[in-house]
Amino acid sequence: MAQATKGRLNYRCPSCFKRDIDMDMFYDPIKKEYYCLRCQFHGTEEEVLKENEVIRLKYKDMYRRFTDFEDFSNDK
Ligand SMILES: [Zn+2]
Repeated sequence: MAQATKGRLNYRCPSCFKRDIDMDMFYDPIKKEYYCLRCQFHGTEEEVLKENEVIRLKYKDMYRRFTDFEDFSNDK
């Protein structure tokens, strides 16, 4: 059966998640790649995990309060 199925693990699409959209990815057993039905993101398990790690770090930063906005607002 060459039909695409969800992989062993459900990975969240990192590209969609960057836009606050929670999409599960599908797995293509022929290409051995995960891909997203919503956007054009596709990648190996390793790439998906790497992207998710970047997002995890980004969201961890959400809880840090940034106060130094002067550099941006005075830039004229
Ligand atoms: Zn996506």
